[in-house]
Amino acid sequence: MTGFSMANILIIGAGIAGLAAARQLKSSGFTVTVLEGRDRIGGRINTDYTLGFPLDLGASWIHGINGNPITQLAQDYKVLLQYTNLEKITLYDSNGQLLAAPTLNELYSLYAQIIEQAKLLRNDLQEDISLAEAVHRILSAIELPIIQKNLLQWYLILQEEKYGTDLIDYSLWEWEKYDTFSGGDYLVVNGYDKIIQELAQDIDIQLSQKVIAIKYNQQGVSVKTERADFTADIALITLPLGVLKSGVVKFYPPLPDDKLAAINRLGMGVLNKVVLKFPEIFWLENDDIVGYVSDLKPDFSHFFNLSRYISTPVIVALTGGSFARSLETLSEPEIEQRVMRLLRRVYGDAIPNPEVILTTKWASDPFCFGSYSTMPVGAKGSDRTTLAEPINHRLFFAGEATSRKYPSTVHGAFLSGLREAKRIQSLLMIK
Ligand SMILES: Cc1cc2nc3c(=O)[nH]c(=O)nc-3n(C[C@H](O)[C@H](O)[C@H](O)COP(=O)(O)OP(=O)(O)OC[C@H]3O[C@@H](n4cnc5c(N)ncnc54)[C@H](O)[C@@H]3O)c2cc1C
Repeated sequence: MTGFSMANILIIGAGIAGLAAARQLKSSGFTVTVLEGRDRIGGRINTDYTLGFPLDLGASWIHGINGNPITQLAQDYKVLLQYTNLEKITLYDSNGQLLAAPTLNELYSLYAQIIEQAKLLRNDLQEDISLAEAVHRILSAIELPIIQKNLLQWYLILQEEKYGTDLIDYSLWEWEKYDTFSGGDYLVVNGYDKIIQELAQDIDIQLSQKVIAIKYNQQGVSVKTERADFTADIALITLPLGVLKSGVVKFYPPLPDDKLAAINRLGMGVLNKVVLKFPEIFWLENDDIVGYVSDLKPDFSHFFNLSRYISTPVIVALTGGSFARSLETLSEPEIEQRVMRLLRRVYGDAIPNPEVILTTKWASDPFCFGSYSTMPVGAKGSDRTTLAEPINHRLFFAGEATSRKYPSTVHGAFLSGLREAKRIQSLLMIK
């Protein structure tokens, strides 16, 4: 290994994890180059401007404002944040009838009871089961009116969007075994990419350099992209879990068995957004979420009322798990037809068609193959630690999926980049 500040470091991926690490390492005097496969930076932070205002197609919120490092960045970079209450829901039943607030409160207290029982259940289990199976076992001992059952099913679909996966695939043992910041969810109103652009200032980033092979040995690392070859003392890999799972990037020698097993066990979940811009607002304006207990399964279940924050008539359908994946096989007119069928049931046939519809396809995106990591039945929190383990002081790993404390989030990804930058710094200072 060369001397401390002489070390030459390649960072693969210009998402927030890669950029956080690049900044930290560069400020300590290292030579850093970031290789990014896309023709833009930010990865799963992707602000679109085609509608004439900033629209985040990837991450939109800072989850938990207190003590969150992204809050500090937002303040430093003068990014506009607005508190959103994702529990403040206007809810309609399948006939388009508005459900009263007490009905929702009953639902929340029923869900809280189920959560308590599920936590007790997992303490007694010898082997992992899915969250769906746990709910099924708990409900089989309770008599519920059909309306309550339907409402509960609807609320469980909201959890599928949060975890990015159907609850039948989500581990009861590992469920919510991560840390959160307090203070509520804040929407980044004027574009999450502001933070990305600031972090990327003065960093050597090479765009459209899709990495296809990484070779490492005692002497160093060589990285092959579709267009060029690069060498370095060290490589920090921030490839999304979905990319590692897909095998599109080859490692020579192959990654160790325990890391491959961890990659296999962890899951890549999907959250897709369907953005609808209308000529006018026809929904109730005051709540953050407009929900529908549809009798078609699966169907759209809830929309974020973005119009509250940008003074343009826009709602965003949030979909998760297999329903979100299935939308990627449909054309935009087909998706529009499905959404409008639902909206017309509630608001009547006279509502206008959307002027613009934008749909995300995170599962088929070859630079992530999904939205964020999840915990399928059989996966363990320790798999994230294994994923983060360096190899031979040559390869280092960061990215949201390597964060055991804050997985699947912007802050988890950011902190993982800092974690690995510090690890590399302390290694090189000892050498
Ligand atoms: C729809 C959606 C909504 C979300 N909402 C929120 C939210 O509101 N709040 C929140 O905290 N989190 C949210 N998240 C999660 C959050 O966006 C991610 O956890 C975080 O951005 C991941 O950062 P990262 O640096 O780990 O990965 P990425 O941002 O994916 O960065 C990895 C980089 O590697 C690049 N890359 C991939 N393959 C190659 C290759 N072969 N060669 C070179 N480069 C390559 C990618 O293009 C990418 O730029 C959301 C994610 C999605 C998709």
